[in-house]
Amino acid sequence: MPDDITLQLDRATAEDLYATLYEVGEHIAAGATISPPRVEEAERLGNLLRDLGHGLGRTCSPYCDHLA
Ligand SMILES: [Zn+2]
Repeated sequence: MPDDITLQLDRATAEDLYATLYEVGEHIAAGATISPPRVEEAERLGNLLRDLGHGLGRTCSPYCDHLA
């Protein structure tokens, strides 16, 4: 499908994404605390967010030249 977006995640990033979505869901549902990510988790999630943004056609910064 031409409008689909495919991202390939390494296991660590997939685990970070799962944990983050789970914690956000618990926070919304029951007010549970969202734990701050460790530095390496924040870096992996930042890279994922950048790549997903590019997949959606969004620039990652005012100087982004990643989109063809
Ligand atoms: Zn970019």
